[in-house]
Amino acid sequence: MFSLSGITPSGEAHLGNYLGAVRRWAAEPGPEDLYFVSNLHAMTTRHDPGRLRVLTDHQLALLIAAGVPRERLFVQSDLIHEHMALTWLLECTCTFGEARRMVQFKEKSQGSSSVRLGLLTYPVLMAADILLHGASEVPVGHDQNQHVELARTLARRFNTDYGDVFTVPQAVLPVAGARVRDLAVPTRKMSKSSSDGSGIVYVLDSPEAVRRKFRRAVTDGENTVRYAPDEQPGVANLLEIMAACTDTLPDDAAKGIDSYRDLKEATAEAVISLIAPVRERVLQLLEERSELQKIRAEGAERARRRSRDRLDRALSLAGLK
Ligand code: ATP
Ligand code: MG
Repeated sequence: MFSLSGITPSGEAHLGNYLGAVRRWAAEPGPEDLYFVSNLHAMTTRHDPGRLRVLTDHQLALLIAAGVPRERLFVQSDLIHEHMALTWLLECTCTFGEARRMVQFKEKSQGSSSVRLGLLTYPVLMAADILLHGASEVPVGHDQNQHVELARTLARRFNTDYGDVFTVPQAVLPVAGARVRDLAVPTRKMSKSSSDGSGIVYVLDSPEAVRRKFRRAVTDGENTVRYAPDEQPGVANLLEIMAACTDTLPDDAAKGIDSYRDLKEATAEAVISLIAPVRERVLQLLEERSELQKIRAEGAERARRRSRDRLDRALSLAGLK
């Protein structure tokens, strides 16, 4: 059993990425698990090459700084030939109807035919990521479940049509963890690609910026600090964040706090205690370029070695070798 998880450099990593994903990856890495910066996935809409390069470095540095073992890491584009080769085999296995049915494609394209073709085919790239590395488990949120389903279909079809080579992966729901919501719109999840960044706390925000964002967090007019997600989503979000940072329950986090001002301040300080050291390490790693490059090169080499036989066999079964 081993699982594969990725983080897409479509924007700077935020508190939700850290609490909901990266921190957990660091806390419980299975001996075979792989974690990668999925930079090929950050190109499905028009992108800025310089920014993509910087964000890729930032996210690799974040994974290392958070404590994900470096031998479990790689950057997707360092294996671009492998990922692309398998993507092509799988594009020739996937039907147009299957790709077109993906809910995320429908939502993001909204029927427009001027969207990039990559937006339609990226679930096939995702299937290639999973199948190339032979992951048996893919921890995904609800929004990615359909894509893992597609990966299962393509694995089975390829195995049946050409010969048994791919592990049929399984989607696993991640252990219930923090679902961090936007501080400005507390009914919406904190997301890298959301257009307005005012309610997003980035891991690389300075302590002062974190304090400022929490001070401006949207609450309500009730003036009661209690954990009631349906009636007081803003306050609940703050309590959940504080609970996640201090390893308590939201109800307990509310104890002893009487005003929204104190709640915002206490939450900001809990966040800063947790992420400031991580931020420092990220900034340090970004200064030590050669160390980062070395970790990146070694990760790529290891991932390549591990996947080589599987890709060769798939190419051979398809009649290409
Ligand atoms: P995008 O808007 O580009 O999809 P994202 O912020 O959703 O970006 P991803 O790169 O898609 O980030 O996800 C990386 C990891 O972070 C995934 O495991 C995802 O479940 C987790 N994650 C993303 N947003 C949150 C959030 N608000 N709370 C908890 N976990 C989150
Ligand atoms: Mg996402």
